[in-house]
Amino acid sequence: MMKSEEVMRILENAIRIGKGVIRYGSVASYIPELAKADKNKLGICLYTIDGNQFETGNTEDRFTIQSISKVMALCLALETFGAEFVFEHVGVEPSGEAFNSLVELDNRSNRPFNPMINSGAITVASLLVNHYSIEDMQKYMQDVCEDPEIAVDEAVFQSEMATCARNKAIAYLLKSKEIIDTDVEDSVTFYTKMCSMSVNARDLAMFGLLLANDGVQLSTGKRLISSQTVRMVQTIMLTCGMYDGSGEFALRTGIPTKSGVGGGLLSVSKKKMGIGIYGPSLDKKGNCIAGCELLGYISEALHLHIFDTREWKVEE
Ligand code: GLU
Repeated sequence: MMKSEEVMRILENAIRIGKGVIRYGSVASYIPELAKADKNKLGICLYTIDGNQFETGNTEDRFTIQSISKVMALCLALETFGAEFVFEHVGVEPSGEAFNSLVELDNRSNRPFNPMINSGAITVASLLVNHYSIEDMQKYMQDVCEDPEIAVDEAVFQSEMATCARNKAIAYLLKSKEIIDTDVEDSVTFYTKMCSMSVNARDLAMFGLLLANDGVQLSTGKRLISSQTVRMVQTIMLTCGMYDGSGEFALRTGIPTKSGVGGGLLSVSKKKMGIGIYGPSLDKKGNCIAGCELLGYISEALHLHIFDTREWKVEE
């Protein structure tokens, strides 16, 4: 049993540890609007399965979800089309390449490696765009995060649309290989809009809690996502969620996590908690530098590694 004060003390330590490395990272600048972020921001929120909330730092600050939307899009696609159909279009292997690479797609494969890199996520978006409007996607995100305020950040959306030649190149390559059959512009627009939804660390923690609770919303007891989807999505987060740093991160923390270049981290600790982090200073691979550091510490302190067999429970 761990006391609530003990958990808070661990979180405060974690923030201190995270702050110590912020200066070694930098904010994303390839989307011009993201370069305006304050690199010193850092916040973490934990929602536990037994109904506790712990948070410290900048947990109310809004930022764009970016690649973390790939997790929601994958959930919705799996629930709508079934795993067999989705994985006919996109694989589940770590690519070992940067998030926006198209090299391996062109040379070695007729399917994007996985749904957590841009080529895979644009493919998933192309499946969704046939069935859903971006408003449907927004509503889905609002539901799984329990936040009706989630909306497209127009400034970031426009900024990325003006600079997304590479994502368009990926989409045209996908189209030329007949991996996607929808309109390239529609698919890229849908993908970019879902990446531009603005969230905060609490939203990510709430979505993490939903996954940690096997897809059942804690507040209502309602099942929003099937167990099978939750298992598949977490597996892919663990193996592919942190760009080409996924293996090292999994070894160190053992927590299924997805990062986004807006500075967000979504982490899931099965039957324990959801964790949301915001810190826009990124490491070389595009992951929140402070978040990775502090999750390493939290994983050890709270026994969150997926293969850690030690008991964990908060005492009021
Ligand atoms: N919208 C961003 C892009 O496609 C997402 C990148 C990310 O968060 O990894 O470049």
